[in-house]
Parts: sequence; C-alpha cells; structure tokens
Amino acid sequence: MAKQEDKFKKVISHAKEYGYVFPSSEIYDGLSAVYDYAQNGVELKNNIRQYWWKAMVQMHENIVGIDAAILMHPTTWKASGHVDAFNDPLIDNKGSKKRYRADVLIEDHAEKLLQKAQKEINKAAKRFGDSFDEEQFKTTNPRVVGYLQKKDEILARMAKSLENEDLADVKALIEELGIADPLTGSKNWTEVKQFNLMFGTKLGASAESAMDLYLRPETAQGIFVNFLNVQKTGRMKIPFGIAQTGKAFRNEIVARQFIFRMREFEQMEMQFFIKPGTQKEWYEQWKENRLKWHLSLGMGEENYRFHDHDKLAHYADAASDIEFNFPFGFKELEGIHSRTDFDLTQHEEFSGKKLQYFDHEENKSYVPYVVETSIGLDRMFLAVFSNSLQDEELENGTSRTVLKLPAVLAPTKAAILPLVKKDGLPEIARTIMDDLKWNFNVIYDEKDAVGRRYRRQDAAGTPFCITVDHQTIEDSTVTIRDRDTMDQKRVKMTDLRQIIDDKVAIKNWLK
Ligand code: ATP
Repeated sequence: MAKQEDKFKKVISHAKEYGYVFPSSEIYDGLSAVYDYAQNGVELKNNIRQYWWKAMVQMHENIVGIDAAILMHPTTWKASGHVDAFNDPLIDNKGSKKRYRADVLIEDHAEKLLQKAQKEINKAAKRFGDSFDEEQFKTTNPRVVGYLQKKDEILARMAKSLENEDLADVKALIEELGIADPLTGSKNWTEVKQFNLMFGTKLGASAESAMDLYLRPETAQGIFVNFLNVQKTGRMKIPFGIAQTGKAFRNEIVARQFIFRMREFEQMEMQFFIKPGTQKEWYEQWKENRLKWHLSLGMGEENYRFHDHDKLAHYADAASDIEFNFPFGFKELEGIHSRTDFDLTQHEEFSGKKLQYFDHEENKSYVPYVVETSIGLDRMFLAVFSNSLQDEELENGTSRTVLKLPAVLAPTKAAILPLVKKDGLPEIARTIMDDLKWNFNVIYDEKDAVGRRYRRQDAAGTPFCITVDHQTIEDSTVTIRDRDTMDQKRVKMTDLRQIIDDKVAIKNWLK
C-alpha cells in the first residue's frame, strides 16, 4: 500500500514539475478537486481526445459528432431523472469528521475480499505450475469460494438496499462488516444520506425572473435532445451514433484522488441508436470495441478488466465498466451502458415532442434504444500518465526517470538539439525545426550538456531527440535517439519526417 501511495505521489509531483497538471488557482491555495492543464498537459489531453475522435467518429461512417452547450433547459434534468435521482449516498465519520461515499466504502471492502481470493489463487498457481486449473480451483477451494461468495453477497445486498432507498440498511451493512474510516480507523458513523451532485446556477439578471439552471453533469443529454435534429439533417439510418466531447460538472462528495475524481471534468461520450431488441448484441459489440481501443495503446492487457454492474442506474438494462489498474488499484475508466429507450421516452413525455425514427424497412416508427460508451478524458489522461511514468536502473549503474507515453499521444514528438551553441549548428537545428513543425509538435533546446537534455526529454515524455553535430555540416545527417531504448542512429535529415511519422501516426496505432 505504501508503495502504491508513493507511486501516486510521484505521479502528482511529476505532472506538476513537467508542466502537465497544476492545481487550480494555486496562488490562493487551490480549489478542491479542480485542476488546470499546463503547457504539456493540454497537448496530451488534445491528443487523447483526437485519438478517441478519430476512432469513434471519423473511422465510422455511421457516427457523427456534435458540440452541445453546457447549459441546457432545466426541464432536461427533470426528464433525465437527474433532479430526483442523481444522488450519491454519503456518510460522515463522527470521529474523523471526514465524509465518504457509503457505496464506495462497501465496494472497497468487497474488493479486499477479491484480492484475498486472488492471493490464494496466485499461491496455488505457483505451487501447481502448468497443471493448475484456475477455474476448478476457484469453484472448489473452500477459502476462495468463501471469499468470493461473501463478496457477491455484500454487493448484492448493497445493490438491493440502494435500489429500495433503504439507507438504514446501507449503514447497517457498513457496521456489520466492521468498516472503519480508512484514515483513522474510527467506526463511529452517522446515518447515510442522499446528496445530489448537480451544480446549480442562475440565468437572467433580476432575482425574481432568474431561472434556475444546472451545469450539465454529463454530456449525454445534449445528444438525446438533438437526436432528431441530427438524424434528419444528417439523413442518418439506424443503427447510427452521435458523439461528443466536453465539460461536465459534479459536486462530488469525496474528491481526494487528483484528476481521477474532479468537480469539473471532461467526458467523451457516444450514444448509439439502435432498433429495440438488438441492445444485447450492440452492448457486447461496443464492450469489445472499446477494449480494443484501449489495448491499441499498448499499456498492457493485464491492466484492464471488465466489471459488470449489479447495481444498475435508473436508465440501464445492462452496464459494465472498463477498469484500469491505476496507482491506487483497479478503478472505473470507462462505462458502457445499455440505456434502453429511457432517455428519449422521457424527453418525449416532458417536451411533448415526438422523438421517433421511421424505419423504412419495417415500415413503422419507434423510439430507438441506446447503447452508450462514456469515458472520462481526465481519467484517461491519468491512466496514460501514471502507466507511463517509470524509474529505470541503467546498465552503467545510474538510473533515469522516463515518461514512456505512447508516442501517438506524446505532447512533443521530437526535441531538436544542436550539440554545441556555435559553429553553425544552431542554425541547422532551426532549419530542421522549421520544417518539422508543420507536421509535428517539436521543440528546440540548446541549454546544458546534451546528456542532460536527453534526460530532460525522457522525463517530459518526448519520443525522439534529434542531435545536430559537426558531421551534420559535412553530410547532412543527424543522430536520432529513441526515448525508450536510448538507441541512437545516424540518419539523413531528409528522412526525419518519415521516421517520426511512422512512429506517431494514429493510423499505425489504431490499425
Ligand atoms: P464513478 O462511479 O467513478 O463516480 P460514474 O459511474 O458516476 O463514475 P459515469 O456517470 O458512468 O461515471 O461517467 C462516465 C465516465 O466519466 C466515467 O467512467 C469516468 O471516466 C468519468 N467521470 C465520472 N465522474 C468523474 C469525475 N468526477 N471526475 C473525472 N471523471 C469522471
């Protein structure tokens, strides 16, 4: 645990030191769970967004994008159920005066049981070697069966209590399980209460006529209310999707995990409109599709897992999370939800307008069903950044900190370094820079010894360093150093663009 915490602290400080993420309004001591993206952070974020947009919108003939406003007519949130049901169950610890999400306390307890089971499985796998049958062991080893059963029972009971709004039972469960405040160990809990996560604001100048609005807590509703506009003007045929990326706001109860849980964050969502009855198929397909997208970045298959929901949101008939192995363990990175026709039907009812699709093949109108994929851009940023940050021991006994960002996402693709600040080398480096900057984000650096500049670029995540030396004057070749292998090759200046492009082109990653 301590090791995990250290790693996470390192991630946060590295993100600040190398110009990725700053606390918001830091000169005023910051604002809790709000962050600013710095000069490198904004590039990484843009690149992640672009990687998603390419894969989801531009590579699909039947998916288009929109950019809806953050402020929406307030009835939207009545219809969507957010005014009445976008709540999290909160619980306070009287001893520590800390506030927690009751469901998260219980889920973390269940996760510990899963980890205990996994430990037994790993031990047995080591003991039995190749002959080990994990499935059989899981279903027959009494200890493992016990842990897993207990975990399932706990989660099922919580799901039932939350669904029935039986908050007293949620508290009873916390007490029965002996769950203590993770910070202080105190078991002195208050009652569980519901807390609505939407931020309110006002539209209009005078107090009497001002209209109560909300900052959107998800981007999805901007898509639903535009469903017919897009379908008609884009002449879209079912099945088709509408995607968007944009800010969302949630007044989160507990926000202690850097950019994992923010109060202002960005989502990348796609709503896929389908024929009723086909939702199971599409749900499975989008689960598979989205996992593939994640795996294309090469951050290790073992770092992802699906978590199918027991506790379904009010709109869903199936839901699964893609969880990622963050520095603090496996947590939700993306949700895939089968949302039925809930949203469109609700908007029909509240607006009095028909939101139906005329299916020429079936010769009838219906309200389409929806499967959605929803990922937090900031969480994706954290996944990529934390996974890439590594300390390496080198053969010569020294060590280096390297940020092995997937090259396609790296903020800066190459640094151009004149070996010395004289003999015409800076001028040549500038020419290379002026040529490459049309295609890539590149930087020029002439300060300090070249070895130190390499280390600086390693830590900043730049995949290539291009060094201009005295031989360059003679034969127009430079050295190009690879961040990950630290290998250096001599290449022709005229080949640079192609070499970099091969490594960073979206096509070569997504394919
Ligand atoms: P959680 O259970 O972690 O609160 P959620 O299930 O409420 O998340 P969704 O409503 O499904 O999340 O939102 C879709 C995605 O938006 C999540 O998978 C996550 O990546 C992102 N997201 C949600 N809340 C936040 C937040 N407060 N900060 C950053 N990203 C968030």
